[in-house]
Amino acid sequence: MAAKDLVPVPDILSMRRVIAFSPHPDDNEIGAAGTLARLIEMGAQVTWVVASDGAMGSFDADAGPSIVDIRKKEQEAAMAAVGGTALEWLGFHDMTLSRHEEELAGRVYQVIRRLKPDLVMAPDPWCPYEAHPDHRTLGSVVATAAIMASFPLVHPEAGPGVDAPSVAFYGTAWPNTFVDVTALFDRKVAAIRAHESQFPGMQADLITFYLRAQASEMGPKAGSELAEAFKVLSPFHLHFYPDAWQS
Ligand SMILES: [Zn+2]
Repeated sequence: MAAKDLVPVPDILSMRRVIAFSPHPDDNEIGAAGTLARLIEMGAQVTWVVASDGAMGSFDADAGPSIVDIRKKEQEAAMAAVGGTALEWLGFHDMTLSRHEEELAGRVYQVIRRLKPDLVMAPDPWCPYEAHPDHRTLGSVVATAAIMASFPLVHPEAGPGVDAPSVAFYGTAWPNTFVDVTALFDRKVAAIRAHESQFPGMQADLITFYLRAQASEMGPKAGSELAEAFKVLSPFHLHFYPDAWQS
């Protein structure tokens, strides 16, 4: 057996307590709405945790604070379209996560230690060419928290240590897990359309067209028509395991 196969890849659909971390309102839906809908249908408790307020998500220089309120409402509607009912905001300003990494980490440890997930989701911080610092920072903080949340001396203010969760990265270049979302893809489309300020008019058609094309490419790997792709790793993969990228 090859070294890369020695540590088994966790089964994403067997997870029952899931936290889906999103840098901005809309990332969870773009990356994982179909799989989140499936997990909810299978009885998993899924909590959306959105790190930033999405205040930069406008081409209108005069958008002002109203864009934050608009995006909050859109996020609630998008989550409802997926079937979710639990949403928490970490309250950081858009485009500032890298500047507040330590504080962000403290908040992420708090949420993980309070909700005790068996799986956390986040954008893949090692996706090549990912240029958005909020995505790289949140993905990296969540990955570190997944291996360190069980150590009570790390961020002790965030509560006692808990079992280390597995991680599913969406927006990944090296997926190892493909989830059949054929029956739930309409929910994903509805969730994307709920983010109206981000995808006005034709843009909603363009992004859903792209996401459907991507899902049909991944489908055969799940033995289905449409699939979402993830890099799923256990805590063992996430430290001193150079084979993880090909696991
Ligand atoms: Zn984003």
